[in-house]
Amino acid sequence: MTTIDQYDFSGKKALVRVDFNVPLNNNFEITDDTRIRAAVPTIRKILNDGGSVILMSHLGRPKGGPEEKYSLKHLLPTLRETFQTTIKFSPDCVGAEALELATGLQPGEILLLENLRFHKEEEKGDQIFAEKLSLLGDVYVNDAFGTAHRAHASTAIVADYFPHDKVCGTVMQSELENAQKVLQYADRPFTAIMGGAKISDKIQVIEQLLDRVDNLIIGGGMSYTFAKAQGGTIGNSLLEEDKLQFTLDLLKKAEEKGVKIYLPSDTVIADAFDNNANRDVVTSGTIPDGWMGLDIGPETRATFAEVVRNSKTVLWNGPMGVFEFENFAIGTKAIAEAVVEATKSGAYSLIGGGDSAAAVTQMGHAHDVSYVSTGGGALLEYMEGKQLPGVLALQFEESPL
Ligand code: AMP
Repeated sequence: MTTIDQYDFSGKKALVRVDFNVPLNNNFEITDDTRIRAAVPTIRKILNDGGSVILMSHLGRPKGGPEEKYSLKHLLPTLRETFQTTIKFSPDCVGAEALELATGLQPGEILLLENLRFHKEEEKGDQIFAEKLSLLGDVYVNDAFGTAHRAHASTAIVADYFPHDKVCGTVMQSELENAQKVLQYADRPFTAIMGGAKISDKIQVIEQLLDRVDNLIIGGGMSYTFAKAQGGTIGNSLLEEDKLQFTLDLLKKAEEKGVKIYLPSDTVIADAFDNNANRDVVTSGTIPDGWMGLDIGPETRATFAEVVRNSKTVLWNGPMGVFEFENFAIGTKAIAEAVVEATKSGAYSLIGGGDSAAAVTQMGHAHDVSYVSTGGGALLEYMEGKQLPGVLALQFEESPL
């Protein structure tokens, strides 16, 4: 795989797949520009080499045609402020106008293409659409790790049209390096913290991790299925009826492999799914009817935090409770703080995308951990041991002996 530092972009037009799927408010202003900031090193390297940049991305989930609220033109003011250079915009990502604008692009300039998903061919991984995109640049760069698990036209198929000129961007490279650090070179003890709503989303990754970790901490909504399977009562808490047996099998497998599993010993319960609901703390598996578990309890916070603080590698995916409600964010905060402390003491900590990344960022700790991944689903699939189409597409065919 060619990394961005290994390629000289001088005089080249680089077709760069970025993940500019940023949140916008009702006035189409960007409310969190993390993803744009993440792509800056890749874009700057190309411009500094004397190349020009053609940016392509998706934004939101349009139905397959143009929609004002999903137009990438709303990003232009931020991009102009960030790069202080000419930024042109093509109202269609393919076709005559895009081609003309790309052809006229001068070194140091940027062309932003309209939302790729205004064409339904993008998500279908359509060859012809990918070929049309490929006409715009001399070299393809993929810096969108968050969509690398999708074989879309711009994330994978287009790479076929650049057999010798396909490059891994800095975001993509650091995501892969950081994932490798925990998958292959983890210092021990290695603790994985799994939380969030559903076991079913994380079964494969949990199974993979059993071969690697020393400790597996399970919190969040998924822990109630474990409590129920062990004979407890869980009231109206989240339950995946069809995963009851899986949880028992997992506990057995963990024991066989010498992995220590930590489940909540107490839980914060509520009489409604509401920040202002009545609250109480009970022993796990003793939740009365009409109540639901929305966070880990104080005893669990202390136990989990202690395990985390004594770890040398920490991987965290999924909140410990409904952290969007302030009153039920205490468990997630306690774990975030323990991860920060472990990091300060020399541990390597990787926060896996989606909600855990949001929680750590929201709590102001994004810079106090080793790495916050930008890819939720992509990171999980990578951790499951799957080949990501977007990564595979950047690899060169082995030359025959
Ligand atoms: P995931 O995307 O699977 O990581 O799940 C994240 C979501 O799980 C967040 O929106 C949390 O509010 C939710 N969650 C965590 N714990 C609970 C719980 N005890 N009950 C309901 N939802 C939860």
